[in-house]
Amino acid sequence: MAETKAAESSGAVAAIPESGPSHFIRNIVTEDLKRGKNQGRVHTRFPPEPNGYLHIGHAKSICLNFGLAAEFDGLCNLRFDDTNPSKEDVEYVDSIKADVHWLGFDWDSREFYASDYFPKLYQFAIQLIKAGKAYVCDLSADEIREYRGTLTEPGKNSPYRDRSVEENLELFERMKAGEFADGVRTLRAKIDMASPNLNMRDPVMYRILHATHHRTADQWCIYPTYDFAHGQSDSIEGITHSICTLEFEDHRPLYDWFLDQLSIHHPQQIEFARLNLTYTVLSKRKLLQLVQHEHVTGWDDPRMPTLAGFRRRGYTPEAIRTFCERIGVAKRNSVVDIAMLEHSLREDLNKRAPRVMAVLRPLRVVIENYPEDQVEELEAVNNPEDPSTGTRKVPFSRVLYIEQDDFRETPPKGFFRLSPGREVRLRYAYIIKCVDVVKNPRTGDVTELRCIYDAQTKSGSSHSNRKVKATIHWVSAAHSKTAEVRLYDHLFTKEDPDEFSEGSDWLTNLNPKSLERLDSSRVEPSLASAESGDLYQFERLGYFCVDNVDSKKDALVFNRAVTLRDSWAKIERTQKRG
Ligand code: ATP
Ligand code: MG
Repeated sequence: MAETKAAESSGAVAAIPESGPSHFIRNIVTEDLKRGKNQGRVHTRFPPEPNGYLHIGHAKSICLNFGLAAEFDGLCNLRFDDTNPSKEDVEYVDSIKADVHWLGFDWDSREFYASDYFPKLYQFAIQLIKAGKAYVCDLSADEIREYRGTLTEPGKNSPYRDRSVEENLELFERMKAGEFADGVRTLRAKIDMASPNLNMRDPVMYRILHATHHRTADQWCIYPTYDFAHGQSDSIEGITHSICTLEFEDHRPLYDWFLDQLSIHHPQQIEFARLNLTYTVLSKRKLLQLVQHEHVTGWDDPRMPTLAGFRRRGYTPEAIRTFCERIGVAKRNSVVDIAMLEHSLREDLNKRAPRVMAVLRPLRVVIENYPEDQVEELEAVNNPEDPSTGTRKVPFSRVLYIEQDDFRETPPKGFFRLSPGREVRLRYAYIIKCVDVVKNPRTGDVTELRCIYDAQTKSGSSHSNRKVKATIHWVSAAHSKTAEVRLYDHLFTKEDPDEFSEGSDWLTNLNPKSLERLDSSRVEPSLASAESGDLYQFERLGYFCVDNVDSKKDALVFNRAVTLRDSWAKIERTQKRG
């Protein structure tokens, strides 16, 4: 199958089928249902830790978990995996809920928190102590590491391993009561210090941490580890398929061990490859660093791979869901070309974004033979992909703006747009000819073009079929609105931002040109009523979104979501040919 052929994490870019393939997790669920496992129930969960904003990798997990539940008439819970109070915050809880909803998924009333299970998890721990399967250990974190051994050498038993059940119960109770300082004691599972799997060498179940939790405040000063909390939380919620990323594969024996020892409902843990994207970091630790050190303006900076960033940039939930379906679900790590995500967005916006004209870097054009006070309302098509959206009027007058790029004083070979003595068609309007160039006498910069128009060539009229080699966009100077436009490039200059030379770090790969702000762009007057989050295609320039933070009624700000050029489509064409 195509998805198993995905390149390994060598930086190679995986070849990915255009439509979503069936995948091994879907096959497992289908088989389980056939065999009547779990009484025919499918119950998944999405378990974020509220220590950062969700990113595009999480979107893959959300689409998978909520998607499977929907497909098999099951349920998917939203569970906050909030067992580490020192890094977690309600700001993150709120943003995660908003982002999952925005992506188009709903958990009804099934919003759960691992912290709600703290009393229950504590009881489970007592059960294991009573069964002689857990003990209180006085080794420090460093000592525990020393005793653990290595991949090639077995570990050593802790000197505290053979404490009596009574002593363990008493000490664990005192840990909970707050009698000991952070890190002084832990509760550990009594498994096997010689296990080839390091996770099975008496892993820590509880640690002492005198920290205020965002939900349980100061009620607890011992907190369960991920390994002890996760499987038991799954079990409490009656989860059938506990889907997680590959780095937990080695934890699966431990996941199973706890559930078996406790004899409680036993969900099946299934691991899949996490999403990696070119030119992108998807580690929450690194994303937090970008925010805290102000390399970006916040979690929702349009250059961030967070869902909040993508939303602000102009990505649609549909484009992200399509992308997640297309990349499939595999068992081996690979890196997906970010061009494929951009391709999904273009495809979606091509269908739905209204076309408008905007000039990013304006150059003034005066049409000398056009009457001073005349204004024509020209008819422009809103979306050629969707005729039901009809047409609108665009004002045309004697003074216009065109793109500076669309004029060259000395045109290179193959440049067919405007230059002295040459003609070009103005979209929806007339053919104009450049008759003179006005320059700033000091700098030599071109400040204005003097042109004449051919009144016979109005678009759509019977004489309009005179051919010129290029059509350019424009706005009427007097009618257009000034806007700020923000153009983005990849946040990193390297396909793999983690590739850096000795002595430097990943931050040296930050792209100093990832943001370009243009503060005197001009947009056609129909955009005066544009609202936060509205999406447009600026003809010939790309898809743009009204910024949901900085844009104001009389000071519009647009983000370029994506350009029109589609490098992914090109990659696909060469793949098909090859
Ligand atoms: P941390 O570094 O804090 O552990 P995390 O990325 O694992 O971060 P979680 O909040 O624990 O973040 O993740 C919630 C869920 O999303 C988990 O099931 C995790 O496996 C999944 N997930 C996280 N990153 C990716 C990714 N890049 N691709 C697919 N799934 C992911
Ligand atoms: Mg995690």
